[in-house]
Amino acid sequence: MNNAYCSVAIDGPAGAGKSTIAKAAAARFGFIYVDTGAIYRTVGLAVQRAGIDQTDGKAVAALLPELSIRLDYGPDGTQRMYLNGEDVSVEIRQPEISMYASAVSAIPAVRDFLLEMQRDMAKTGSVVMDGRDIGTVVLPDAGLKIFLTASAEARAKRRLAELLQKGENCTLQQVMDNMLRRDTQDANRAAAPLRAAEDAILADTTDFTLEESIEYICGLIRERFGLEDR
Ligand code: C5P
Repeated sequence: MNNAYCSVAIDGPAGAGKSTIAKAAAARFGFIYVDTGAIYRTVGLAVQRAGIDQTDGKAVAALLPELSIRLDYGPDGTQRMYLNGEDVSVEIRQPEISMYASAVSAIPAVRDFLLEMQRDMAKTGSVVMDGRDIGTVVLPDAGLKIFLTASAEARAKRRLAELLQKGENCTLQQVMDNMLRRDTQDANRAAAPLRAAEDAILADTTDFTLEESIEYICGLIRERFGLEDR
């Protein structure tokens, strides 16, 4: 891994605010932001479209060589995901795809397939990368590891607000059930389970506003790498 660049690994359960906070922090310091969940979602979408059972490891593994998954940044800096050349950035956000992503991400062949792509991103510049196994597997040498969490209720409320804003029709209970099912699946899988790296800083944002969470995480980055805001 290239030590000339700074890498920040942010892991944690669904709805902890990882993407929003990581994105804001990356912009603050001029780092690349990598949302690795979007990459797993893209595989989940491919599996859904292919009509394959997402828990069938063999069938999913057989599909992988046919997939070209590419990550890019739009003019406004937002991460775009391409599946076989098609921009699927919006489609991968459907709640149904969250469960597909979680199921396929438990398959070791899928994790192996995506590992180098994620590591390569950290070789191109300083990064803030968020996911479930960034501090433990993808970037074990990251200069700063943060495990971001919040109470299940706070996380579900935040996720619900996001979904309602996007025009999705769902209830707090549905969001909570979906989120907890996914967290349980992610934390209990054998391959790269969701857990804090031993050297991660635990950040509980239950009682923080989004702005306070961003400031807190930016403070950790500033301090660890001796940086100024851009
Ligand atoms: O972060 P997001 O909720 O978009 O991730 C979707 C799913 O992708 C997660 O529930 C998890 O199962 C999987 N994932 C993973 N490892 C990562 C990022 C996401 O297993 N580094």
